[in-house]
Amino acid sequence: MAHKETDVLIIGGGVTGTALARELSRYEVSVMLMEKEVDLAFGTSKANSGIVHSGIHDRPGTLKARLCVEGNRMYPQMAQELDFLYQNNGAVVVARQEDEIPALKRLMEQGQQNGVTGVRLIGRGELLALEPHLAPDLAAALVMPSGGIVIPFDLVYALAENAAANGVEIVLGTQVTDIQEEDGAFTVQATHIAGRTPRAAQAAQTIQAAQTAQTTVLPVETVRARYIVNAAGLHAGTVASMIGDDSISIHPRKGEEYLLDRRLAGFVRHTVFPLPTPVSKGILIIPTVEGNIMLGPTACATDSFDDYGTTAVGWREVFDYVRQLAPELKASDLITAFAGLRAASNHEDFIIGPSAVSQRFIHAAGMESPGLTAAPAAARLVCEHLQEAGLDLKPKKVFDPIRRVIRIRDLSASEQAQLMQQDAAYSKIVCRCEYVSEGEIRDAIRRGATTLDGVKLRTRSGMGRCQGGFCTPKIIGILSRELGLPPEKITKRGPGSPLLAGRLR
Ligand SMILES: Cc1cc2nc3c(=O)[nH]c(=O)nc-3n(C[C@H](O)[C@H](O)[C@H](O)COP(=O)(O)OP(=O)(O)OC[C@H]3O[C@@H](n4cnc5c(N)ncnc54)[C@H](O)[C@@H]3O)c2cc1C
Repeated sequence: MAHKETDVLIIGGGVTGTALARELSRYEVSVMLMEKEVDLAFGTSKANSGIVHSGIHDRPGTLKARLCVEGNRMYPQMAQELDFLYQNNGAVVVARQEDEIPALKRLMEQGQQNGVTGVRLIGRGELLALEPHLAPDLAAALVMPSGGIVIPFDLVYALAENAAANGVEIVLGTQVTDIQEEDGAFTVQATHIAGRTPRAAQAAQTIQAAQTAQTTVLPVETVRARYIVNAAGLHAGTVASMIGDDSISIHPRKGEEYLLDRRLAGFVRHTVFPLPTPVSKGILIIPTVEGNIMLGPTACATDSFDDYGTTAVGWREVFDYVRQLAPELKASDLITAFAGLRAASNHEDFIIGPSAVSQRFIHAAGMESPGLTAAPAAARLVCEHLQEAGLDLKPKKVFDPIRRVIRIRDLSASEQAQLMQQDAAYSKIVCRCEYVSEGEIRDAIRRGATTLDGVKLRTRSGMGRCQGGFCTPKIIGILSRELGLPPEKITKRGPGSPLLAGRLR
């Protein structure tokens, strides 16, 4: 039986867990992050709106308000260090009629109380000058210059790779199932739910050793951890109950999102919000960093923890609503849809702090929106709680904050030519819609992708207009070659999601 020891065990490999892993990797402590899925960012952190919120929407005095504003301010430097795609595009909240203007003013005051800077109220003329494709009869708007956008999974991989490069051990496909506290430490039982063949394991070890990343590929059944952080998203209540803490219950709230063709790049520059509803920030028009337009999300309570289906009703609700804000939008530009589940909890705020059962068990739970924005600030707060609980956080002598990836579509023609000359794999374009080369797909696998979705999320291959129609077989071939697995063993997103049924002959 494998038996490991760590100072801090983080349960959950979404943005909350990986931001914390990176923050802790600055210090002289051993850190292990355990994720039940075969890859990071396969939970809520994969399927959301990708907005770096300004902090205007949250009730003053809440953790949501404070950490959103703090997190928002951390993004520009983080993006520079970690090379993830981030744009400070700003946001507007629009009033459709004159009688909504008082609500806009209240929202502005709330934002100012939260410390959001630069917010201003503008009239119809200025709004249309900023965003000419919006409906000509909108009454007014608030402009929030600090709003931004990211690709959420791109951020998670950047955080995790940098954390791993600074010594954090990342254990995938391994679900925490039981926790016992004894003698000043926790004994954690975890079940390895996603196997890899020895060849794949060996390949991953060799590659990751070369990158100084340490991804454990052998089953870990027992871990002794001095401290635990519960960043298990939708399952944070279940994880808390493993130490007898029944204070958290999660009630998923589903949000459907609809992605339009890149033909519409530049249709809006700012993220466009309506006035918020009691349960959400409303249905938005979101420009993505990659130039698509995204519409959504809906907000609908569900009993299911894995209901990721989109519905005709959801599409109608979203499309009918956004057409009131921007009548030129066309249904024929829809290329794909997805849904995410917000980890709404029985608390109105984020739940960040020690469990009442054990001071050394810290919750980072109930991370519904703006959890993506708040993640880097939440990570710092969790570190403060860990210190209060007795963990000595001594800065490392050497911490490398920099992480880089190659994206050939972002390079100049001469840079591309130079790279292609050095390594011919960058000259073989596999995904024509998104202009992704074999070299980038190979790199993504060497950085940790083991499934079709893992490659897609790291490189954008298969995310364009044809939605993988041309490139999927080629990517399966590259995964098969790099991982040393037969093609029929390559999955979409881990066990239970086969892509090929077998060989015809
Ligand atoms: C539709 C929608 C739109 C949103 N838009 C925005 C936005 O624009 N801006 C913003 O700031 N926020 C937004 N959010 C919120 C944001 O997505 C979340 O706050 C954030 O992704 C939460 O990250 P997390 O790491 O806490 O949870 P997750 O990403 O769900 O990660 C938790 C991880 O824990 C793992 N896990 C669970 N149980 C175990 C176990 N027993 N053992 C091991 N691993 C386990 C899960 O597999 C999962 O990967 C949105 C959310 C939704 C649903």
